[in-house]
Amino acid sequence: MATTRDGIRSTDLTGRTALVTGAASGIGAACATALAAAGAHVLVADRDAAGAERIAAGIHGEALAIDLADLDALAARSFDADVLVNNAGIQTVAPIVDFDPAAFRRMIDVMVTAPFLLVRAVLPGMYERGWGRVVNISSVHGIRASAFKSAYVTAKHGLEGLSKVTALEGAAHGVTSNCINPGYVRTPLVEKQIADQARVHAVPESEVIEKVMLVESAIKRLLEPAEVADLALWLCGESAASVTGASYAMDGGWSAR
Ligand code: NAD
Repeated sequence: MATTRDGIRSTDLTGRTALVTGAASGIGAACATALAAAGAHVLVADRDAAGAERIAAGIHGEALAIDLADLDALAARSFDADVLVNNAGIQTVAPIVDFDPAAFRRMIDVMVTAPFLLVRAVLPGMYERGWGRVVNISSVHGIRASAFKSAYVTAKHGLEGLSKVTALEGAAHGVTSNCINPGYVRTPLVEKQIADQARVHAVPESEVIEKVMLVESAIKRLLEPAEVADLALWLCGESAASVTGASYAMDGGWSAR
């Protein structure tokens, strides 16, 4: 752990390995960049192999082409990391009565079962070394619901449960597990849902951010990925050694309502 001249402790991850899923884009790429800047060797995991290579090259990391929807392949692989950031996520916006059951299942696979398999894979190494950090990129939808997001809200609530159980089991071994709960963040995931949100909410696409996405947030702007990455980095530091089983809202006041 490094200490700055004014006494503020910063996170030093020299000698640590970090596995970040969905790290080719958005929040995952920002987390990978922040962890690498703190000294970690970062495994940039994504189904977008070219994107993972691009991010890995920029941070002297290692690309890992991996499809988290392929649970059998995932379960068959071995992983070792001191820091695991479960970040990869997908979105489908539709009323329950129209929601494709295959899409629902896929979202649970990618956002709940894959994180479980990864936690299961990395915990033995963390236990052996007596240190580990699991950071789950949940969402304000891990603690609040929105219409037309049945699979996403269900998956994120499930991830919250997994995080808390990991916290309880890992505590005696120096492993913490926490969730971050962002409101809307300026990433491709958000850009891609604007057309669907316009359709289900019957508003023009140009008004989706203001009239749908930022309605519940007291701070009327999108978050930036680097803001989420800063919090993830703090959770990996020694100042957060006693922070576990927690869920940190970064939602502009949405969940204060
Ligand atoms: P993004 O679309 O920019 O990036 C997601 C990355 O995950 C992509 O690189 C994609 O290739 C990868 N990915 C998707 N499915 C995968 C799979 N099956 N296997 C491997 N990789 C896969 O999204 P983002 O906005 O950065 O979202 C990252 C996380 O943050 C997600 O879990 C999302 O739910 C959460 N989140 C996002 C927001 C937001 O407003 N953007 C808000 C709250 C929470």
